[in-house]
Amino acid sequence: KLHNQIEEAKGNIRVFCRCRPLSKGEASAGYATVVDFTAAKDGDMGILTGSSMKKNFKFDRVYTPKDDQVDVFADASPMVTSVLDGYNVCIFAYGQTGTGKTFTMEGTEQNRGVNYRTLEQLFEIVDERKETYTYSIFVSVLEVYNEQIRDLLATAPTSKKLEIRQASEGFHHVPGIVEAKVENIKEVWNVLQAGNSARAVGSNNVNEHSSRSHCMLCILVRAKNLISGECTKSKLWLVDLAGSERLAKTEVQGERLKEAQNINRSLSALGDVISALATKSIHIPYRNSKLTHLLQDSLGGDSKTLMFVQISPSEQDLGETLSSLNFASRVR
Ligand code: ADP
Ligand code: MG
Repeated sequence: KLHNQIEEAKGNIRVFCRCRPLSKGEASAGYATVVDFTAAKDGDMGILTGSSMKKNFKFDRVYTPKDDQVDVFADASPMVTSVLDGYNVCIFAYGQTGTGKTFTMEGTEQNRGVNYRTLEQLFEIVDERKETYTYSIFVSVLEVYNEQIRDLLATAPTSKKLEIRQASEGFHHVPGIVEAKVENIKEVWNVLQAGNSARAVGSNNVNEHSSRSHCMLCILVRAKNLISGECTKSKLWLVDLAGSERLAKTEVQGERLKEAQNINRSLSALGDVISALATKSIHIPYRNSKLTHLLQDSLGGDSKTLMFVQISPSEQDLGETLSSLNFASRVR
């Protein structure tokens, strides 16, 4: 109880910073590590920006390359499981391409990430509570690319454009999207795989495509309290954002430029919404992008937000690292 009160007092936005290991390629090329983790346990982190210059940042948690998926999920888990208590929750991974956003959210088969671990834990709790609650869990997988929503679970391609609507009770939803009912973790795995393979359709380079679109997993929970009869509905968004790197203006043209502008626009919109929430601003500009509009129910109000800011340890990425850390500091 006391723990909860302390958590409440801290507000509803958390920022965790995670640094990936130096890759083999970077190590053999002789790139130095510019991140100083000596105070990582206290959420402090230093970035070496020159021979004797160090810039310090503070986050709710800092994960060094030695921390694994279990360490990360241990801290995220109270937040994700609060969706079963009726909270709307949003977790997203922000950062330059190649810094581990997909590793943190999706993970690999050997090193499963937040998405899978979350659903696994939700089913465990649902089972523990079966005397007092019945829960139904639905999963949707969407992609936002060039400000257009694509349903990755749709079995037949639809020509109809997917739009965001607000239901009478204030709930935002996308009419027509697939909400797959899942009863156990095996079904979840199948759904996630289906979403992944749909993502690859129509793009000649899957990795490139995924770094330029936002991949959004929505877990909708309907709960019925068997004693009081009360029914609630809550939503958990798990988002692997498009890469935040800025491209040199000379490098991009045509379709690529449009992509880059849409990414910039939606990531800035996200930053604007979260910093408006953090400063308790009256107007929260949710409508400036599809991303923030979709997430609206799970950003602000009494919902809980967790941002992973993903960084590279390598000196060659210093510029992007600083820009990601500045973005993240702005929302705290
Ligand atoms: P992003 O989604 O941000 O573009 P990825 O998740 O694809 O980045 O990560 C890039 C590479 O680094 C992948 O090969 C991934 O497995 C590896 N990687 C990222 N984070 C970690 C980590 N914490 N530990 C080990 N490997 C990691
Ligand atoms: Mg990725």
